[in-house]
Amino acid sequence: MQFQCYCNNAVEIPVKDEYILDDDTITSILQGEFLSTSCDRCGKILKPEIPLTFRTLDNEHVSFIPENERFSTFETQQLDSNSLYVIGYPELIEYIHILSKDFKKEIIEIIKLQIIQKVPDPSKTVILFQDYVDSRLIFHIHGLKDNEIAVMKIPYSLYQSIEKDFRKLIQNDPYKTIVEKPYISVRKHLADEAGE
Ligand SMILES: [Zn+2]
Repeated sequence: MQFQCYCNNAVEIPVKDEYILDDDTITSILQGEFLSTSCDRCGKILKPEIPLTFRTLDNEHVSFIPENERFSTFETQQLDSNSLYVIGYPELIEYIHILSKDFKKEIIEIIKLQIIQKVPDPSKTVILFQDYVDSRLIFHIHGLKDNEIAVMKIPYSLYQSIEKDFRKLIQNDPYKTIVEKPYISVRKHLADEAGE
């Protein structure tokens, strides 16, 4: 696929129809090197953000949507209901962390709802699961203060209690909307509230 550099040079970056989320792909995504290529004229690093398809080693199909297509995607595109959607690299990286710790995305998003209900401006807040250490789930909270990331540690017991009540919880909104495939995200609930 051809991409135009800021210097107007056309740079060819090979893009596959599907990427397997194996260790090599995961490492290059986490290091920010995935799909990046340097321009052969000015040397600038280009990192195109385009729709991509991944497949996990458990054979889950993951559709990656660029951040700038967040809102248009769900209005205009036919979504593949057999795929799980992630929007933007931070959400893809978060999904990799969720997979590596063997958590369920549905439950992670419900925990985020409980966190986001307590922040002053939910629409400007982005919460991302980061890690699991010492029986605590670690979330990074972006947007509370400019250029600062808050860290929140949630006890595993909360995850377990949501898992236990899961079937009952998702009968009603906002839980129902949040866990609805193919885009499982607390951000859908926030978008609904904002009237988008
Ligand atoms: Zn260039």
